[in-house]
Amino acid sequence: MCLLFGKETKAQSNQEPIDYLYRQMDRTYKGSCHCGTVRFEADIDLKAGTFKCNCEICTKTRMWGAIVKPEAFRLLAGKSALVEYRPDKIHHLFCKHCGVRPFAWGEDPGLGGKFYAVRVNCLDNVEVEELLEAPVAYFDGANDDYQSAPAETRHL
Ligand SMILES: [Zn+2]
Repeated sequence: MCLLFGKETKAQSNQEPIDYLYRQMDRTYKGSCHCGTVRFEADIDLKAGTFKCNCEICTKTRMWGAIVKPEAFRLLAGKSALVEYRPDKIHHLFCKHCGVRPFAWGEDPGLGGKFYAVRVNCLDNVEVEELLEAPVAYFDGANDDYQSAPAETRHL
């Protein structure tokens, strides 16, 4: 069960000092599944942080996410192709044609209610440099500890 949202995190980053103004700006990204049936837009500030987690479902699906509020997420196409898998409180969605899971959603009081977890690896117009510079917070979800990073993160 992955409950990593809304918890205080320890971001691990070796990036250079961030330009203050840029940090405040969300950028609108386009994202999609592999076959293109599911398409979305999301306003994300990648420099505000992304996350990875070592719980079982995050490990098996290689989750690398960014959290956004509902008003920052717009599903453009493919709603009827999305299948929901719900082993925990998160609505895990995948495309029934290609199996790619571009995003999930859930509700967490710590995040002010509903949120979307966008997989940054499904963004189509993101620059590699943006991903390299995005801070990554690691969660030890395997031990239900969302306050701490796991001892080992290199495989995530
Ligand atoms: Zn697809």
